[in-house]
Amino acid sequence: MKVFYDKDADLSLVQGRKVAIIGYGSQGHAHANNLKDSGVSVVVGLRESSASAEKAREAGLEVAGIADAVASADIIMVLAPDEHQAALYAEQIEPQLRQGATLAFAHGFNIHFEQIRPRGDLDVIMVAPKGPGHLVRSTYKQGGGVPTLVAIFQDASGQAREIALSYASANGGGRAGIIETTFREETETDLFGEQAVLCGGVTALIEAGYETLVEAGYAPEMAYFECLHELKLIIDLIYEGGISNMNYSVSNTAEYGGLTRGPRVINESARQTMQQILADVQSGAFASEWVEENRSGAQELERLRERSRNQTIEQVGAQLREMMPWIREKRLVDPSRN
Ligand code: NAD
Ligand code: MG
Ligand code: MG
Repeated sequence: MKVFYDKDADLSLVQGRKVAIIGYGSQGHAHANNLKDSGVSVVVGLRESSASAEKAREAGLEVAGIADAVASADIIMVLAPDEHQAALYAEQIEPQLRQGATLAFAHGFNIHFEQIRPRGDLDVIMVAPKGPGHLVRSTYKQGGGVPTLVAIFQDASGQAREIALSYASANGGGRAGIIETTFREETETDLFGEQAVLCGGVTALIEAGYETLVEAGYAPEMAYFECLHELKLIIDLIYEGGISNMNYSVSNTAEYGGLTRGPRVINESARQTMQQILADVQSGAFASEWVEENRSGAQELERLRERSRNQTIEQVGAQLREMMPWIREKRLVDPSRN
């Protein structure tokens, strides 16, 4: 597989175009500020009522209504929440899109599952950083970047790929590596990864470990440090040098215990469940469920959020983190700013 870097991208392509970033959330704030710092002319398109407008203006960005931003731009990056993109596209984006404009996404959901069907005159590309928006911004500021996927759904101009590489480079991706994929592959692997491993699997593992210790009579504070706080330290070692790097650093006892017991937790039954989760992603069953959940007001999501917030591990953690102010000082997420 070929990996592209800054030297393979022509930054001047995106610098010569006007880019509208629609939405100023996790990804939106990162793309807008990174592109601006890379010398690109950026306008942030937001709803009239948007709470994000003030944050974007404070960051020194040009802000406009969504329709005006789209009408003024050569490249339109759609960074509103996935579940609102289809309606937003039909009502405010498509009618304003210039002939031959480039329509860009950071996730393939709406194109792959045909919630959005773009006009034939458009280039349709994906530039998807493989990391949370707050890291897309913080790594860029440190001179690094987040590995990024690019994909082409439609190439009306014959230049779609070069534009995607140029955009990815301006966003910092070319420092870490840019990989070309398809909308289908990105969508399916992204949904599977966040469900089975990153957001779903790992939190369920933390909670199950914590609850096992607490139910056995150990102090919740002990269980929190062991099953949640320490995970960050372990992940840092894995991130830096792979699983062997982590095993080199932990004790031989931890290494032997982990190698023999880990597969008993993530056993054959867990693997079969992962296969079912993947099958539901591939068949579109998960996509239909999520579209339907939003049509009916996202009440189940709200109920699950509330339940997650009220777990004792969250309360215990909040108290313990108060005693570790350095975590807050270096925090990536500050809702008043980004
Ligand atoms: P978000 O929820 O953080 O932010 C969305 C922003 O869009 C809001 O802050 C607001 O400015 C605006 N917005 C909200 N509702 C809107 C509406 N109804 N109409 C118009 N604008 C609205 O979203 P996000 O997590 O940054 O996701 C944006 C896109 O990036 C999605 O396609 C997502 O899959 C993709 N993505 C996100 C991440 C991530 O780190 N969160 C990582 C990779 C890809
Ligand atoms: Mg995702
Ligand atoms: Mg230990």
